[in-house]
Amino acid sequence: MSGKLYLCATPIGNLGDVSSRCLEVLGAVDLIAAEDTRRTLQLLNHFEISKPLTSYHEHNKHEKGGYIISLLQNGKNVALVSDAGTPAISDPGEDLVRLCIENEIEVTSVPGPVAGINALILSGLPTKRFAFEGFLSVNKRHRKEHLDAVKNDTHTLIFYEAPHKLKNTVSDMQKAFGGDRKIALVRELTKLHEEVKRCTLDEAAAFYEENNPRGEYVIIVEGAAEADIPAENEWDGISIREHVEKYIAEGLSSKDAVKKAAADRNLPKRDVYNEYHRGE
Ligand code: SAM
Repeated sequence: MSGKLYLCATPIGNLGDVSSRCLEVLGAVDLIAAEDTRRTLQLLNHFEISKPLTSYHEHNKHEKGGYIISLLQNGKNVALVSDAGTPAISDPGEDLVRLCIENEIEVTSVPGPVAGINALILSGLPTKRFAFEGFLSVNKRHRKEHLDAVKNDTHTLIFYEAPHKLKNTVSDMQKAFGGDRKIALVRELTKLHEEVKRCTLDEAAAFYEENNPRGEYVIIVEGAAEADIPAENEWDGISIREHVEKYIAEGLSSKDAVKKAAADRNLPKRDVYNEYHRGE
């Protein structure tokens, strides 16, 4: 009979947040697969748990996945732990879960901290409807596409970010969502320097021009206001030229009208400019 995979949530900063059930499971399984074995060893040492550890992370998940599945198929019980928080949330755990399902191996969860959810509840922004957006890509074009794809979402958005990329991310969000949008920058959750900065994107961009972000961050962004969402594809039935002319008739300069029409249509400004001036 196959063993079981336990997805064990571990603290995101405060060791006191580990559940007694998590410690019980870590002490009982045959093997612990950890995203960061050194970090997990600190947790195990603190609670005097001695267990075989193996690494399972983004760069070895293919070969290690097969190895862990073979152990599970041979009746061993395995615990999966992330470097912090809940496995399979922005870490390769989701691949192992999928492999277990494909191989008809039982998976269960031992719940605990998740940075995104704790940041959301501290943000003061609506919690009724929200979406987890994870990390933005490091690729500039993919980041823009991601932000453009969610800019009209009316629910609250949750992003993870590394401190050295925070300044650029806030600036990209300011461009995509507009400077008035509210955000909460939640850092160092459950740690000594836990802090929540609640402000607008304009204020956050100005703040990080002067201050270097330090520590781990979750960014919570207010959803779009219904009033700010353009009517669904209102420009679908009009030509690019008519689209630009509509903004000029509303009082914009031709340069700004081209810029706005390009943003509406998610097209490069140059294409809209050329189309507008074609045949002149
Ligand atoms: N599995 C984790 C979870 O359950 O939240 C997330 C892992 S993800 C690789 C790491 C990211 O989570 C960090 O870059 C940061 O955005 C966020 N994070 C983790 N711990 C945090 C903390 N104590 N305070 C704020 N953000 C944290």
